[in-house]
Amino acid sequence: MMRIKPETVFSELDKLFPNAKAELVFHNDFECLICVVLSAQTTDVSVNRVTPALFAKYPDAFALAKAKQEEVEGFIRSIGLYKNKAKNIIALSKALVERYDGKLPRSKEELVTLPGVGNKTAAVVGGECLGIPSVAVDTHVSRVTKRLGYAKEDDEPMEIEAKLEKDFPKEVQVRLHHRMIFFGRRICHARNPECDKCPFSQGCLYFKKTSSKTGK
Ligand code: SF4
Repeated sequence: MMRIKPETVFSELDKLFPNAKAELVFHNDFECLICVVLSAQTTDVSVNRVTPALFAKYPDAFALAKAKQEEVEGFIRSIGLYKNKAKNIIALSKALVERYDGKLPRSKEELVTLPGVGNKTAAVVGGECLGIPSVAVDTHVSRVTKRLGYAKEDDEPMEIEAKLEKDFPKEVQVRLHHRMIFFGRRICHARNPECDKCPFSQGCLYFKKTSSKTGK
């Protein structure tokens, strides 16, 4: 079976979801980083509910670096893993103050050295705030990529990220990330994907496997 070409994958996703973008609300690089750290294993909407008050109190790394853990917990108590996240965003702010004069470093390699910043967070922040081409891999991106034959079933997120960044041109990578997430949430679900609405069935490994089973 032929893999669908990268330009076709992107243009079809772009037709389906031309306005797909991050749903987190932030106004500068610092807020972007904090929002992305807070959004791990919770919805963007629930993060957006707590951040206006949090950023009003702690508008930059200098303010948040001096904050008390319990006070920060009070602002973000309604989101998942809030204790750990409070600890991380304070430690992260301290590191920004100590090592980068309160600003964000400008590369993914440096971002991952900050407390609580993993590879996916660095890729999202790089793409959203710093203009670094990247395809951050979450569960949706991972599933869609594997079904379309762009990664192997047992590939880890970092391997998938590297493959997508090799196969897709730099200028579309951040948009590809958002469109794949929308596609995974709305059409290519983990269970019972809506393949009848999908332009990729002819190049999809999952579709091939399931339709040969059902004899479709
Ligand atoms: S054909 Fe189905 S499983 Fe394959 S990419 Fe499309 S929606 Fe997903």
